[in-house]
Amino acid sequence: MQKQPSVLVIYTGGTIGMIQNKETLALEPFDFDHLYKHIPVLEGLNCRIESHSFDPLIDSSDMKPAFWLRLAKVIEDNYNRYDGFVVLHGTDTMAYSASMLSFMFENLDKPIIFTGSQLPLGMLRTDGRENFIASLEIASAIENGKSIVPEVAIYFENKLFRANRTIKFNAENFDAFLSGNYPVLAEVGIHIKYNRNVIAKHGVGGIKVHYGLDPNVAILKLFPGISKCVVESVLRIDGLKGIILETYGSGNAPTDRWFIETLREAIEKGILILNVTQCKEGAVDIGKYQTSVALGQIGVIGGEDITTESALAKMMHLLGSGRENNEIKILLSKSLRGEQGSWIEKA
Ligand code: ASP
Repeated sequence: MQKQPSVLVIYTGGTIGMIQNKETLALEPFDFDHLYKHIPVLEGLNCRIESHSFDPLIDSSDMKPAFWLRLAKVIEDNYNRYDGFVVLHGTDTMAYSASMLSFMFENLDKPIIFTGSQLPLGMLRTDGRENFIASLEIASAIENGKSIVPEVAIYFENKLFRANRTIKFNAENFDAFLSGNYPVLAEVGIHIKYNRNVIAKHGVGGIKVHYGLDPNVAILKLFPGISKCVVESVLRIDGLKGIILETYGSGNAPTDRWFIETLREAIEKGILILNVTQCKEGAVDIGKYQTSVALGQIGVIGGEDITTESALAKMMHLLGSGRENNEIKILLSKSLRGEQGSWIEKA
């Protein structure tokens, strides 16, 4: 007989884990130690569920790199004891955290599924219940002795997305996440339909967890009228090592001499500048328009179709890896965990 799969649920905080106190009507954290009492239908799931709650729980707007290290450690310490992991997380910064974990975990061969909700688990019309139950099913889904989804993913409103391709784009609807440049990994209806040809392959050789993260990065979003003093004050921040430059369309930027010179000066000082698009779909293509030619000439790196969230995580991860800038530059322009580039080539 096949052994019953097991999942560790890790609660970090956020709306999903809230329940309304029947007397005071205030929202209080859900007691994950008594999961089966609160959601008896879980008894019907062929899966052993255990939980770990962070203390203190945080609203994900308070997310920091130090928390990512703690989260990764909980997963690493328990990696061999469970078949999969469900991380309950606030939606606001879920795309950043899930992207970061995708870079921190190399050679993953089990699912790490992030989910949350727009309404608390303890409310009548909650979306959290379905998100939670489907995430548990996916995290425990095994075929021929192997996990079906051996990667970091986000599950939300019937869809499973590659974590490092996903953004939160809606603060109101249940359908809050989007993966503009990569197909969904699975769709949940009556059945869970896995889109197997776009799911990552199993890592081999055992997981490797990378704890080096360098937070000396910044995001600079272009807008018409951006002034020299704004650009200079960001690029001249003491200790800055990397910039995510959010450009227009396919990687275009102003052609003003002062703008290009300020960027050139930063690059010459050793600051890495990664060009990502402000668009939700499509890619940076340096040189396609005259307005991006100079960026390429001075050494701005093209981030293809990577999301800003993923670019930030990748930059912190690579800068924290102790590698030389030349090597980091090469790695920034190619896919490490399926975060950028044509999905036909696959991760
Ligand atoms: N502000 C909350 C958070 O991100 C919203 C949510 O839980 O979805 O933690």
